[in-house]
Amino acid sequence: ATPMSIMTATGRGAQAGVLVKTAEGLERLAAVDTIVVDKTGTLTEGKPVVDEIVPAAGKSKMELLRLAGALEKGSEHPLAEAILGAVKSQDLDLPRAENFEAVTGKGVRARVGDAVVLFGNAAFASESGADLSDLGDRAEELAELGKTVMYLVQEACEAAQLLGLIAVADPVKANARAAISALHDDGIRIVMATGDAPRTADAVAKLLGIDEVHAGVLPEGKKKLIEDLKSRGATVAMAGDGVNDAPALAAADVGLAMGTGADVAVESAGLTLLKGDLEGILRARKLARETVRNIR
Ligand code: ADP
Ligand code: MG
Repeated sequence: ATPMSIMTATGRGAQAGVLVKTAEGLERLAAVDTIVVDKTGTLTEGKPVVDEIVPAAGKSKMELLRLAGALEKGSEHPLAEAILGAVKSQDLDLPRAENFEAVTGKGVRARVGDAVVLFGNAAFASESGADLSDLGDRAEELAELGKTVMYLVQEACEAAQLLGLIAVADPVKANARAAISALHDDGIRIVMATGDAPRTADAVAKLLGIDEVHAGVLPEGKKKLIEDLKSRGATVAMAGDGVNDAPALAAADVGLAMGTGADVAVESAGLTLLKGDLEGILRARKLARETVRNIR
Protein backbone atom coordinates (compact mmCIF):
# COMPACT_ATOMS: atom_id res chain seq x y z
CA ALA A 1 0.00 0.00 0.00
CA THR A 2 1.26 3.47 -0.77
CA PRO A 3 1.42 5.92 2.16
CA MET A 4 -0.90 8.35 0.38
CA SER A 5 -3.74 5.88 0.00
CA ILE A 6 -3.42 4.89 3.65
CA MET A 7 -3.62 8.50 4.72
CA THR A 8 -6.67 8.94 2.56
CA ALA A 9 -8.20 5.80 4.01
CA THR A 10 -7.51 6.98 7.55
CA GLY A 11 -9.11 10.35 6.89
CA ARG A 12 -12.11 8.89 5.13
CA GLY A 13 -12.40 6.21 7.79
CA ALA A 14 -12.72 8.89 10.45
CA GLN A 15 -15.49 10.49 8.40
CA ALA A 16 -17.21 7.11 8.21
CA GLY A 17 -16.96 6.73 11.99
CA VAL A 18 -14.13 4.18 11.88
CA LEU A 19 -10.71 4.68 13.43
CA VAL A 20 -8.14 2.93 11.20
CA LYS A 21 -5.03 1.86 13.12
CA THR A 22 -3.41 -0.34 10.49
CA ALA A 23 -3.82 -0.24 6.72
CA GLU A 24 -3.60 -4.05 6.71
CA GLY A 25 -6.61 -4.26 8.97
CA LEU A 26 -8.69 -2.17 6.61
CA GLU A 27 -7.51 -4.13 3.56
CA ARG A 28 -8.29 -7.48 5.13
CA LEU A 29 -11.79 -6.33 6.03
CA ALA A 30 -12.66 -6.41 2.33
CA ALA A 31 -11.86 -10.16 2.28
CA VAL A 32 -13.71 -11.09 5.49
CA ASP A 33 -16.41 -13.77 5.13
CA THR A 34 -17.18 -14.40 8.82
CA ILE A 35 -17.71 -11.98 11.70
CA VAL A 36 -17.67 -13.18 15.30
CA VAL A 37 -19.55 -10.75 17.56
CA ASP A 38 -19.66 -10.42 21.32
CA LYS A 39 -23.14 -9.83 22.76
CA THR A 40 -22.98 -7.51 25.76
CA GLY A 41 -21.90 -4.01 24.78
CA THR A 42 -21.41 -4.98 21.13
CA LEU A 43 -24.86 -6.10 19.95
CA THR A 44 -26.55 -4.64 23.03
CA GLU A 45 -26.31 -1.15 24.47
CA GLY A 46 -24.14 -2.51 27.27
CA LYS A 47 -26.01 -0.49 29.88
CA PRO A 48 -28.01 -3.19 31.64
CA VAL A 49 -30.66 -2.27 34.20
CA VAL A 50 -32.13 -4.44 36.95
CA ASP A 51 -35.36 -5.88 35.63
CA GLU A 52 -36.44 -8.34 38.29
CA ILE A 53 -35.36 -9.58 41.72
CA VAL A 54 -36.53 -13.07 42.69
CA PRO A 55 -35.76 -14.02 46.32
CA ALA A 56 -35.63 -17.65 47.46
CA ALA A 57 -38.15 -18.67 50.15
CA GLY A 58 -37.69 -16.60 53.31
CA LYS A 59 -35.52 -13.90 51.69
CA SER A 60 -36.48 -10.38 50.68
CA LYS A 61 -35.74 -8.43 47.51
CA MET A 62 -33.96 -5.67 49.43
CA GLU A 63 -31.79 -8.22 51.28
CA LEU A 64 -30.68 -9.60 47.91
CA LEU A 65 -30.00 -6.19 46.43
CA ARG A 66 -27.95 -5.11 49.46
CA LEU A 67 -25.75 -8.22 49.31
CA ALA A 68 -25.32 -8.07 45.53
CA GLY A 69 -24.53 -4.35 45.84
CA ALA A 70 -21.92 -4.98 48.53
CA LEU A 71 -20.20 -7.50 46.25
CA GLU A 72 -20.40 -5.45 43.04
CA LYS A 73 -18.90 -2.36 44.67
CA GLY A 74 -15.49 -3.82 43.91
CA SER A 75 -16.29 -4.73 40.29
CA GLU A 76 -15.97 -2.73 37.09
CA HIS A 77 -18.22 -5.00 35.04
CA PRO A 78 -21.26 -3.42 33.29
CA LEU A 79 -23.43 -5.86 35.27
CA ALA A 80 -22.05 -4.31 38.47
CA GLU A 81 -23.22 -0.90 37.29
CA ALA A 82 -26.73 -2.29 36.81
CA ILE A 83 -26.81 -3.56 40.40
CA LEU A 84 -25.32 -0.38 41.85
CA GLY A 85 -27.81 1.70 39.87
CA ALA A 86 -30.67 -0.17 41.51
CA VAL A 87 -29.01 0.16 44.94
CA LYS A 88 -28.81 3.91 44.42
CA SER A 89 -32.41 4.30 43.27
CA GLN A 90 -33.55 2.40 46.39
CA ASP A 91 -31.25 4.52 48.55
CA LEU A 92 -29.86 1.43 50.29
CA ASP A 93 -26.94 1.36 52.73
CA LEU A 94 -24.49 -1.35 51.78
CA PRO A 95 -22.77 -3.72 54.21
CA ARG A 96 -18.99 -3.99 53.91
CA ALA A 97 -17.47 -6.65 51.70
CA GLU A 98 -14.02 -8.10 52.41
CA ASN A 99 -11.69 -10.43 50.50
CA PHE A 100 -13.32 -9.39 47.24
CA GLU A 101 -12.56 -11.63 44.27
CA ALA A 102 -13.69 -11.26 40.64
CA VAL A 103 -13.76 -14.39 38.47
CA THR A 104 -13.63 -13.38 34.79
CA GLY A 105 -16.66 -14.50 32.82
CA LYS A 106 -18.33 -15.92 35.93
CA GLY A 107 -18.97 -13.44 38.73
CA VAL A 108 -17.80 -12.04 42.05
CA ARG A 109 -17.27 -13.41 45.55
CA ALA A 110 -16.62 -11.71 48.92
CA ARG A 111 -17.08 -12.05 52.65
CA VAL A 112 -19.98 -10.01 54.02
CA GLY A 113 -20.20 -10.17 57.82
CA ASP A 114 -19.78 -13.84 58.80
CA ALA A 115 -20.83 -15.19 55.41
CA VAL A 116 -19.02 -15.78 52.13
CA VAL A 117 -21.39 -14.78 49.36
CA LEU A 118 -21.07 -15.15 45.61
CA PHE A 119 -22.96 -13.56 42.76
CA GLY A 120 -22.70 -14.66 39.13
CA ASN A 121 -23.82 -17.03 36.39
CA ALA A 122 -25.33 -20.50 36.79
CA ALA A 123 -22.00 -22.28 36.28
CA PHE A 124 -20.38 -20.19 39.03
CA ALA A 125 -23.31 -20.68 41.42
CA SER A 126 -23.45 -24.44 40.76
CA GLU A 127 -19.71 -24.86 41.35
CA SER A 128 -20.30 -23.74 44.93
CA GLY A 129 -22.64 -26.71 45.34
CA ALA A 130 -25.88 -24.70 45.54
CA ASP A 131 -29.08 -26.25 44.19
CA LEU A 132 -30.59 -23.75 41.74
CA SER A 133 -33.64 -25.83 40.84
CA ASP A 134 -36.12 -23.96 43.09
CA LEU A 135 -35.83 -20.90 40.87
CA GLY A 136 -35.11 -22.84 37.68
CA ASP A 137 -38.44 -22.22 35.92
CA ARG A 138 -38.36 -18.50 36.66
CA ALA A 139 -34.73 -18.26 35.49
CA GLU A 140 -35.62 -19.97 32.22
CA GLU A 141 -38.55 -17.63 31.55
CA LEU A 142 -36.38 -14.57 32.11
CA ALA A 143 -33.53 -15.91 29.96
CA GLU A 144 -35.93 -16.70 27.13
CA LEU A 145 -36.82 -13.00 27.10
CA GLY A 146 -33.13 -12.25 26.51
CA LYS A 147 -32.44 -11.20 30.10
CA THR A 148 -29.20 -11.98 31.91
CA VAL A 149 -29.80 -13.98 35.09
CA MET A 150 -27.37 -13.85 38.02
CA TYR A 151 -27.57 -16.02 41.12
CA LEU A 152 -26.78 -14.99 44.67
CA VAL A 153 -25.44 -17.82 46.81
CA GLN A 154 -24.21 -18.04 50.39
CA GLU A 155 -21.35 -20.49 50.74
CA ALA A 156 -21.21 -22.91 53.66
CA CYS A 157 -19.15 -26.00 54.46
CA GLU A 158 -22.22 -28.26 54.64
CA ALA A 159 -24.35 -26.96 51.76
CA ALA A 160 -24.25 -23.69 49.83
CA GLN A 161 -27.60 -21.90 49.91
CA LEU A 162 -29.34 -20.17 47.03
CA LEU A 163 -30.56 -16.74 48.23
CA GLY A 164 -32.19 -15.68 44.99
CA LEU A 165 -31.62 -14.34 41.51
CA ILE A 166 -31.44 -10.95 39.88
CA ALA A 167 -32.24 -10.51 36.20
CA VAL A 168 -31.02 -7.53 34.18
CA ALA A 169 -32.23 -6.30 30.82
CA ASP A 170 -29.87 -4.88 28.22
CA PRO A 171 -31.69 -3.77 25.03
CA VAL A 172 -30.11 -4.45 21.64
CA LYS A 173 -28.67 -1.45 19.80
CA ALA A 174 -31.19 0.33 17.59
CA ASN A 175 -29.34 -0.44 14.36
CA ALA A 176 -28.03 -3.93 15.22
CA ARG A 177 -30.69 -5.80 13.26
CA ALA A 178 -30.29 -3.63 10.18
CA ALA A 179 -26.49 -3.90 10.32
CA ILE A 180 -26.62 -7.71 10.54
CA SER A 181 -29.12 -7.96 7.73
CA ALA A 182 -26.93 -5.76 5.50
CA LEU A 183 -23.84 -7.84 6.39
CA HIS A 184 -25.79 -10.95 5.38
CA ASP A 185 -26.58 -9.30 2.05
CA ASP A 186 -22.84 -8.76 1.72
CA GLY A 187 -22.36 -12.55 2.02
CA ILE A 188 -21.02 -12.54 5.58
CA ARG A 189 -21.74 -15.19 8.19
CA ILE A 190 -22.42 -13.85 11.70
CA VAL A 191 -21.38 -15.89 14.75
CA MET A 192 -22.12 -14.82 18.33
CA ALA A 193 -19.62 -15.56 21.12
CA THR A 194 -20.76 -14.57 24.60
CA GLY A 195 -20.04 -15.32 28.21
CA ASP A 196 -23.76 -15.16 28.92
CA ALA A 197 -26.03 -18.22 29.28
CA PRO A 198 -27.26 -20.24 26.24
CA ARG A 199 -30.94 -19.32 26.58
CA THR A 200 -30.25 -15.60 26.88
CA ALA A 201 -27.80 -15.75 23.99
CA ASP A 202 -30.27 -17.69 21.80
CA ALA A 203 -33.06 -15.18 22.50
CA VAL A 204 -30.90 -12.24 21.41
CA ALA A 205 -29.51 -14.18 18.42
CA LYS A 206 -33.02 -15.02 17.23
CA LEU A 207 -34.11 -11.41 17.51
CA LEU A 208 -31.17 -10.29 15.37
CA GLY A 209 -30.97 -13.15 12.85
CA ILE A 210 -27.54 -14.40 13.97
CA ASP A 211 -26.36 -17.57 12.17
CA GLU A 212 -24.51 -19.42 14.94
CA VAL A 213 -24.27 -19.04 18.74
CA HIS A 214 -21.53 -19.96 21.21
CA ALA A 215 -22.65 -19.21 24.80
CA GLY A 216 -20.93 -19.54 28.17
CA VAL A 217 -17.59 -18.83 26.48
CA LEU A 218 -14.62 -17.58 28.52
CA PRO A 219 -12.07 -15.15 26.98
CA GLU A 220 -9.71 -17.96 25.89
CA GLY A 221 -12.69 -19.77 24.36
CA LYS A 222 -13.51 -16.75 22.19
CA LYS A 223 -9.90 -16.75 20.97
CA LYS A 224 -10.00 -20.49 20.28
CA LEU A 225 -13.24 -20.11 18.29
CA ILE A 226 -11.52 -17.53 16.06
CA GLU A 227 -8.53 -19.83 15.55
CA ASP A 228 -10.80 -22.78 14.69
CA LEU A 229 -12.72 -20.74 12.11
CA LYS A 230 -9.45 -19.52 10.58
CA SER A 231 -8.00 -23.03 10.40
CA ARG A 232 -11.12 -24.10 8.49
CA GLY A 233 -10.33 -21.48 5.86
CA ALA A 234 -12.54 -18.58 6.94
CA THR A 235 -11.32 -15.00 6.91
CA VAL A 236 -12.52 -13.77 10.27
CA ALA A 237 -13.25 -10.41 11.85
CA MET A 238 -14.02 -10.16 15.57
CA ALA A 239 -16.19 -7.37 16.97
CA GLY A 240 -16.08 -6.79 20.73
CA ASP A 241 -15.94 -4.21 23.49
CA GLY A 242 -14.70 -5.91 26.62
CA VAL A 243 -11.54 -6.94 28.43
CA ASN A 244 -12.80 -10.48 27.83
CA ASP A 245 -12.75 -9.90 24.05
CA ALA A 246 -9.13 -8.69 23.85
CA PRO A 247 -7.49 -12.09 23.09
CA ALA A 248 -10.04 -12.80 20.33
CA LEU A 249 -9.68 -9.30 18.85
CA ALA A 250 -5.93 -9.85 18.59
CA ALA A 251 -6.31 -13.37 17.12
CA ALA A 252 -8.75 -12.39 14.35
CA ASP A 253 -7.71 -11.41 10.80
CA VAL A 254 -9.35 -8.08 11.64
CA GLY A 255 -10.20 -6.84 15.13
CA LEU A 256 -13.11 -4.40 15.37
CA ALA A 257 -13.31 -2.70 18.77
CA MET A 258 -16.26 -0.68 19.98
CA GLY A 259 -15.13 2.89 20.68
CA THR A 260 -17.43 2.78 23.70
CA GLY A 261 -15.61 -0.24 25.13
CA ALA A 262 -12.59 -1.03 27.28
CA ASP A 263 -9.19 0.51 26.42
CA VAL A 264 -7.58 -2.92 26.11
CA ALA A 265 -10.16 -3.89 23.45
CA VAL A 266 -9.31 -0.80 21.40
CA GLU A 267 -5.58 -1.51 21.82
CA SER A 268 -6.01 -5.11 20.63
CA ALA A 269 -7.98 -4.20 17.49
CA GLY A 270 -6.89 -2.85 14.08
CA LEU A 271 -10.09 -0.89 13.60
CA THR A 272 -12.36 0.90 16.07
CA LEU A 273 -16.02 1.62 15.46
CA LEU A 274 -16.55 5.06 16.95
CA LYS A 275 -19.65 5.26 19.17
CA GLY A 276 -19.83 1.44 18.90
CA ASP A 277 -21.84 1.76 15.71
CA LEU A 278 -22.11 -1.66 13.97
CA GLU A 279 -23.08 -0.07 10.66
CA GLY A 280 -19.52 1.32 10.69
CA ILE A 281 -18.46 -2.21 9.62
CA LEU A 282 -20.37 -1.78 6.33
CA ARG A 283 -18.97 1.69 5.73
CA ALA A 284 -15.45 0.44 6.52
CA ARG A 285 -15.86 -2.49 4.08
CA LYS A 286 -16.90 -0.14 1.32
CA LEU A 287 -13.92 2.02 2.11
CA ALA A 288 -11.65 -1.04 2.18
CA ARG A 289 -12.78 -2.11 -1.28
CA GLU A 290 -12.13 1.36 -2.66
CA THR A 291 -8.72 1.54 -0.99
CA VAL A 292 -7.67 -1.86 -2.30
CA ARG A 293 -8.79 -0.83 -5.79
CA ASN A 294 -6.77 2.39 -5.60
CA ILE A 295 -3.63 0.57 -4.57
CA ARG A 296 -3.74 -2.04 -7.31
P1 ADP B 1 -20.16 -11.09 27.95
O1 ADP B 1 -19.38 -12.03 27.08
O2 ADP B 1 -21.63 -11.20 27.69
O3 ADP B 1 -19.67 -9.66 27.80
P2 ADP B 1 -18.81 -11.90 30.52
O4 ADP B 1 -17.92 -12.92 29.90
O5 ADP B 1 -18.14 -10.69 31.05
O6 ADP B 1 -20.03 -11.51 29.51
O7 ADP B 1 -19.62 -12.58 31.72
C1 ADP B 1 -20.32 -13.79 31.53
C2 ADP B 1 -21.35 -14.01 32.62
O8 ADP B 1 -20.72 -14.11 33.90
C3 ADP B 1 -22.36 -12.88 32.77
O9 ADP B 1 -23.46 -13.02 31.91
C4 ADP B 1 -22.75 -12.99 34.25
O10 ADP B 1 -23.75 -13.94 34.41
C5 ADP B 1 -21.47 -13.48 34.90
N1 ADP B 1 -20.69 -12.34 35.45
C6 ADP B 1 -19.53 -11.83 34.97
N2 ADP B 1 -19.11 -10.79 35.72
C7 ADP B 1 -20.05 -10.60 36.68
C8 ADP B 1 -20.20 -9.68 37.77
N3 ADP B 1 -19.32 -8.71 38.05
N4 ADP B 1 -21.32 -9.81 38.54
C9 ADP B 1 -22.22 -10.78 38.31
N5 ADP B 1 -22.13 -11.67 37.31
C10 ADP B 1 -21.07 -11.60 36.51
MG1 MG C 1 -18.98 -7.31 25.86
